[in-house]
Amino acid sequence: MNLVTRVHETAMTQPEKAAYHFMGKDTSYAEFDQSVSMFASALQDLGVGKGDHVAFLLGNTPHFLISLYATMRIGATAIPVNPIYTPDEISYIIHNSDAKAVIALDLLLPLVEQAAGAFPTVEHYVICETVPETPEKIAALPAAVKSKVRSFTQLIATGRPNQEPVVVDENETAIILYTSGTTGQPKGAMLTHGNLYSNARDVADYLDFTEDDRVVATLPVFHVFALTVVVNAPLVKGATILLLPRFSPAEVFKVVKEQQATIFAAVPTMYNFLYQFPDADPSDFKSVRTTISGGSSLPVALLHNFEEKFNVRVSEGYGLSEASPVTCFNPTDRERIPGSIGTNIINVENKVVDELGNEVPDGEVGELIVRGPNVMKGYYKMPEETESAIRNGWLYTGDMAKRDENGYFYIVDRKKDLVIVGGYNVYPREVEEVLFAHRDIIEAAVIGLPDPDFGEEVHAFVVLKEGVKEDKEALIAYCAARLAKYKVPKQIEFLDELPKNTTGKILRRSLKDQVKI
Ligand code: AMP
Repeated sequence: MNLVTRVHETAMTQPEKAAYHFMGKDTSYAEFDQSVSMFASALQDLGVGKGDHVAFLLGNTPHFLISLYATMRIGATAIPVNPIYTPDEISYIIHNSDAKAVIALDLLLPLVEQAAGAFPTVEHYVICETVPETPEKIAALPAAVKSKVRSFTQLIATGRPNQEPVVVDENETAIILYTSGTTGQPKGAMLTHGNLYSNARDVADYLDFTEDDRVVATLPVFHVFALTVVVNAPLVKGATILLLPRFSPAEVFKVVKEQQATIFAAVPTMYNFLYQFPDADPSDFKSVRTTISGGSSLPVALLHNFEEKFNVRVSEGYGLSEASPVTCFNPTDRERIPGSIGTNIINVENKVVDELGNEVPDGEVGELIVRGPNVMKGYYKMPEETESAIRNGWLYTGDMAKRDENGYFYIVDRKKDLVIVGGYNVYPREVEEVLFAHRDIIEAAVIGLPDPDFGEEVHAFVVLKEGVKEDKEALIAYCAARLAKYKVPKQIEFLDELPKNTTGKILRRSLKDQVKI
């Protein structure tokens, strides 16, 4: 069984069931499976097949779902890329991944036109139309470019609706995900059909997804959190995806209400926006049974605020691209602990270890390592990085964590974000949680900066609520009343917003670069 055969099976047993809802229209499992088969066979006719690599520059539209399942259906490998990456970032990934075809949104046509000759491995560009002018624009391309460019709509129309999926082994690579790369060059995590299917199934079972669920997909689908939790997990269960083209609080509340969503997943930044949204009605989330957070740490104050306002229970989980991604979640049938990422999900083991790889006692901080059917095969063309990431069958996450006596895990921070002040460890998250709990603060981030006396000092960035007066001394005094002296920020900078990537991760590198003081 894999994702493609599972969806194919649902298309046979429940053809009428809605696989996804997009812009006011339902698409049934039978229609979805047919489109996938047609696009898959059209790609084969272009000469794209087993073992080939297909890069996607797509956002949250059905083109993504069809392209992903079609690529996997012919045994090729999908490379989802954030379409709003800079041309340099996109170019690095297309080169590094040896893509044979690129499927891109029409907004990127100018980029495709420029780049068409630049990638020696790319033979085809498929352009997905979202506006009526696109076919005209494709027709007007210079001949040399046009010979490589196809329209998605025209291409899919040439495919065959009832072609059986190509048989694939569970160890074959289904997708390569380039890690978000908040530091350094991105690395391509190779996830197999077995990795993806097992994680989608295990998350769905652990969180009790059923075929009756209606799951909001407002997270960007090219990111692994969305891919497994709001795309593959619902499809494995025969549930319905409520696909939103982008994140906007108004659209989220509207779709939840109108479509009676039962499962909602988001990153902490989105919860913050939803909580702060002035027009939200506390009953807006009434139909939602399971509310999920992941991707970065959910500040405890925000969790409580959101739960109280919308009368829901937020379950935080944890994962990383290299683990397809989910390893831990707060259970839905037992206690959920604010500030914790929960317990092992089904089939996955998490362990906290010291520098030598030995498990540390409960309550002590060490590196989180993970083992299970969800752990990647390795990084594409990077054997050394693979060897250092996976040791004795365990994936080293680079995140510092602790476990309590009941098996709940707590992320302390990323190993490389640790700040050392005069020999003492300061985990930015602890300071951020204190700042976040302040009633005037919307967001906060903490970094370490060089200090001549102490090696490093704690430096905080704060976004204040509108209309609040900046008062650095008062905030430092507030922290001093709640934190050990060496953890108290020496400097506080006020910003209008924090720099973040599309999945809400704070870009600490760029904060370091913009330090004013
Ligand atoms: P990515 O591979 O882009 O999904 O990023 C994975 C990283 O996100 C992890 O290694 C963690 O540092 C971070 N992360 C994910 N979920 C959480 C969470 N619930 N709490 C804290 N950090 C998280």
